[in-house]
Amino acid sequence: HVRHTHIRAAQRVITTRWRAGNIQRRSLQQETTVKDSGVEAYQNVGLRLAVKDNIAARGFPTTCASNILAGNEIPFDATIVTQLRRLGMDVVARKAGMDEFGMGTHSTTSAFDHVHNVHPLERYSAGGSSGGSAVAVRNGTAELALGTDTGGSVRMPAAYTGTVGFKPSYGMLSRWGVVPYANSLDTVGLLARTVEPISTAIVGRGFYSEHDPRDPTSLPSHVRTRCTAQREGYDSSGQAPKADFRGLTFGVPLEYNIEELDPRIRRGWLQAAEKIQSLGGRVVPVSLPSTKNALSAYYVIAPAEAASNLSKYDGIRYGRRDSDGTSDALNGVLYARTRGTGFGNEVKRRILLGSYTLSSDAIDNYFIQAQKVRQLVRRDFDRVFKLSNPLQDEQTFNLSDMDESVMLDSKLGPAQVDFLLSPTAPTPPPLLEQVHKQTPLDSYMNDVFTVPASLAGLPAISIPMDIPVDPNNEEEKLLHFGGLQLIGQYWDDARVLSAAGKLS
Ligand code: GLN
Repeated sequence: HVRHTHIRAAQRVITTRWRAGNIQRRSLQQETTVKDSGVEAYQNVGLRLAVKDNIAARGFPTTCASNILAGNEIPFDATIVTQLRRLGMDVVARKAGMDEFGMGTHSTTSAFDHVHNVHPLERYSAGGSSGGSAVAVRNGTAELALGTDTGGSVRMPAAYTGTVGFKPSYGMLSRWGVVPYANSLDTVGLLARTVEPISTAIVGRGFYSEHDPRDPTSLPSHVRTRCTAQREGYDSSGQAPKADFRGLTFGVPLEYNIEELDPRIRRGWLQAAEKIQSLGGRVVPVSLPSTKNALSAYYVIAPAEAASNLSKYDGIRYGRRDSDGTSDALNGVLYARTRGTGFGNEVKRRILLGSYTLSSDAIDNYFIQAQKVRQLVRRDFDRVFKLSNPLQDEQTFNLSDMDESVMLDSKLGPAQVDFLLSPTAPTPPPLLEQVHKQTPLDSYMNDVFTVPASLAGLPAISIPMDIPVDPNNEEEKLLHFGGLQLIGQYWDDARVLSAAGKLS
């Protein structure tokens, strides 16, 4: 009892101070010691922020877990780090581990240390690519963590560690100072033990409305204002109406009930739907027919953009240079040596894939097709959400030459929902030894539920989901949670956060 009182007292101190917004580092110092899963959580420190190793923070190296950037220091703070430091957050001593350049699902493609899940799950994947960020908030090293989410990298580790991971609408949080992986998909995401510190930053502290002129993909202020104005019940500061589940409809996408779905996850998903109903919400089935093509489209678009982004690491302008002293840059030897030793296998695989799908022979069959699928995925979402997409007028994709059967397919079933409800990952965290045996394709499969929202730029959150386990099976009892994903319409982030808060 005493222990729990301490925990509550400490949490109250932390949230109250942060809400008050006048945080001064010194005034935050607390003497309270809280034991949490054996970890000293809030001991004599202020609010701590873990920063993924692809986000610039002054005084820390930014290596993207790659040899090609080993020891690299970016001498300024990323905008998101500046914003959080302004709230009084301290960056924790070590950057959070990740998959190399964000390419991976288990934080195992790092050139340096692999990330381990928290005790007693050390043998299981912590998810990726922002695995280090998730572990930092799970084990109490930080109250908030920054990750990046291109195709699920914040949501997946949240699901595997039992934490909350939020991917905002594309273009909301500045990416200035964040090393790009795939620009049209990259978002900065936040992780924490609960939804509250995340919505405090996004909604309460107004990150929602802050345009960054240094990031060309940061949504301009007048568009932010227009998007917010279109959201019924939102006030001008971006506050969403309180989540009262009566009157809210949650869609369960039929295409997400895949064969590969672990039965425990399926049961957890069902329980979550029942909980929504018991809170007064409606749960209805919806169809998102292009889902089945979303994963393939993602794994064409993301590597293509990555191949283009990573071409700057040539040993001449950026990062490491691998030279035997005699090689001449002009004959390409320096370039080949640097990239050959600087990049890991997964990154090389993506560069090859991306260079191929962008080549003149293949671009029509792969890259262009993938862009069309992306547009269909977006239309699927727009069709099921009650709210319209405030950016739809500005979309310039040309659908006229699209296959007619695909067009017809996309008109199925007009359900009107507020949010979509799905698992975050098809299985509980897999054992690392299984992960090491997986083919790249097996590993890409894990992202099947997270990439559609990324392709459409929609806000999505993963919150812990209880899954029923056999009380006599010790191994199974360890895995008593999965990730539950809520997806909302573009710029409906505040409602997504508020509904997730109520559900968790
Ligand atoms: N697993 C996906 C990939 O490897 C997503 C990664 C991410 O969101 N950064 O591309």
